[in-house]
Amino acid sequence: MTDCIFCKIINGEIPSDIIYEDDKVIAFNDLNPQSPVHFLVIPKEHIESVNYLDSKNANLVAHTFLVIGKLAKKLGIDEKGYRVVNNCGENGGQTVPHIHFHVLASRKFSWPPG
Ligand code: 5GP
Ligand code: ZN
Repeated sequence: MTDCIFCKIINGEIPSDIIYEDDKVIAFNDLNPQSPVHFLVIPKEHIESVNYLDSKNANLVAHTFLVIGKLAKKLGIDEKGYRVVNNCGENGGQTVPHIHFHVLASRKFSWPPG
């Protein structure tokens, strides 16, 4: 999608700090980190949000979580733990309409979220 910030990151039109890439997803550090470790994992296919998942593209979410688990081990955040967040729509706090999963780590998070 031409006017999507994350599609532009995928295409290399906007620079980003990419920490992982394969044929289905990329992971890059968040521009405005909310914890010492804060990266995003996104499918390369433009899917607006969880609302647009279906039986054809849902495999990308499973793949995304496999990648999150591998990156957590690689970055050494797996044992202490981390938080995976997906914001969906206006009330969920989604600001970029390309489905993405935040991975936040290296500090303690509270519950319930704000
Ligand atoms: P959302 O609020 O939609 O769940 O999350 C969007 C996230 O994307 C925010 O945490 C924001 O800091 C991050 N973000 C927005 N624009 C850019 C960008 O151009 N580069 C990077 N690396 N992160 C971005
Ligand atoms: Zn996009």
